[in-house]
Amino acid sequence: MHKPPLSSRLRPFTSTIFAEMTALAQRTGAVNLGQGFPDTDGPQRMIEVASEALRNGMNQYAPGPGVPELRRAVADHQRDRYGIDLDPDTQVLVTVGATEAVAASLMALVEPDDEVVLLEPYYDSYAAAVAMAGAKRRGVPLAEDPETGRFGLDVAAVRAAIGPRTRALVLNSPHNPCGAVFTREELSALAEVCREHDLMVISDEVYEHLVFTPGGHVPIATLPGMFERTVTISSAGKTFSVTGWKVGWATGPAELVAAVRAAKQFITFVGPGALQFATAHALREERPWVERLCGDLADKQRRLADGLAEVGFGVRRSEGTYFVCADIRPLGFADGLEFCRQLPELAGVAAVPVQVFTDEPERWRHLVRFAFCKRDEVLSEAVDRLAALRK
Ligand SMILES: *Cc1c(COP(=O)(O)O)cnc(C)c1O
Repeated sequence: MHKPPLSSRLRPFTSTIFAEMTALAQRTGAVNLGQGFPDTDGPQRMIEVASEALRNGMNQYAPGPGVPELRRAVADHQRDRYGIDLDPDTQVLVTVGATEAVAASLMALVEPDDEVVLLEPYYDSYAAAVAMAGAKRRGVPLAEDPETGRFGLDVAAVRAAIGPRTRALVLNSPHNPCGAVFTREELSALAEVCREHDLMVISDEVYEHLVFTPGGHVPIATLPGMFERTVTISSAGKTFSVTGWKVGWATGPAELVAAVRAAKQFITFVGPGALQFATAHALREERPWVERLCGDLADKQRRLADGLAEVGFGVRRSEGTYFVCADIRPLGFADGLEFCRQLPELAGVAAVPVQVFTDEPERWRHLVRFAFCKRDEVLSEAVDRLAALRK
C-alpha cells in the first residue's frame, strides 16, 4: 500500500496521550493519576437495577431516542435543577456517552469547511470530532490568571476569533483539564457573543454535579436567547462513577435534537437499554449519593493540591471535575510532555501534559494534569512518591 490507510482527516489523531501514559504507568508500576476514571464503584442500587433489567430481558434494541424512563428522568432533572422545561419525546436524546453526543452534534450541525471554536485546552475528542465532520477548529485559549491560578473565559479572544464561516462553539464547564467552573458573568458575556454572531453552542456539562465552589454550575442554555441555539450534553459516567457505562444525553430545542438524532442513528443507532434504565433510577433516586461523591472529591482535591504544593509544584485552582493542574517550572522543569514521560521513572507517578490538548503547545507546556478521583490511600501514595522531586 503506497498511502497510509487512515484518511487525511484522522491522520493527526492516531495516538492518544492516555494510551501512552497508561502503558508507561503499567510498565513502570507507577500510580496512574493520568487517566480520569474513579477506582471505586457507582451506587450499589443503580448496579442492581441494571442487573435486574438484564435478567428480566431488557436485552434487545432500545428505542432510537433512548428508553422513555431515562428521557423522562433527564427532563425532570433539567427542570428541577435548572428550570429548563423539556419535552422528553422531542427534546431529549439518549446517546452512547457524552462523546457520541458531541460527535453527532458536530456531524449534524456544521457544514464541511465551517469553523468551530474550541476553547483551549480542550477535551481531546472535540478536535477529532470537528475533523470527522469535515469542519475546521479555531482554538481560543482560556486565560490563566497568574494571581489566583484560575483559568477564565477570554471572551474578547473568542470574539476576535470569529469569522464569516464560524458556525458553532464547543463549551465545557466544569472544565477538563483546567478544573474551572465558569461563572454566570463569564457565560453571559460569552452568550452575548454567540447571539451576536448567531453561533450554536455544544455545551459539554458532564461534570455538572462535581463542583466544589459555592456558585455552582450554570448551564449556558438557561441564559437569555441561548436555549434555542444550544445542545446541552451530560452523561452518567462522571456523575455516578460509571465511566464504562457510556450512557449520555443531549437536550435542547426539538429542531437541534432531531438533527443530532439523524446523525446518531447511523453512528450507533442505540446504546444498551438496561444501563439507560438504571441511569433513570439513579437520576431520580441517587441524589444523596452524588452529593457525598462531590464532598469526597472536594476533599481529595484539597488533599492532592496540598500535597503537590508541598512538593513544590505551582498548583492551580480547581473548582470542580476530577482534575487539578500544576506548574512544573518551580521544580526546575520546562516541558510538560517531557516531564510526564520521565515522571514514572523519576517518582513512580503518571500524569498528563496539558499542552497535548491545545494547538499552541508552547503556551501550555508548563502545566500538567493530575486526576484526584482515586482512593485516599492511592493519593497519599502518589504524594509520598512525588516527594522525590523536591528540590
Ligand atoms: C469524560 C468526559 C467525557 C466523556 O463522557 P462519556 O459519557 O464517557 O462519553 C466528555 N467530556 C468531558 C469533558 C469528559 O471529561
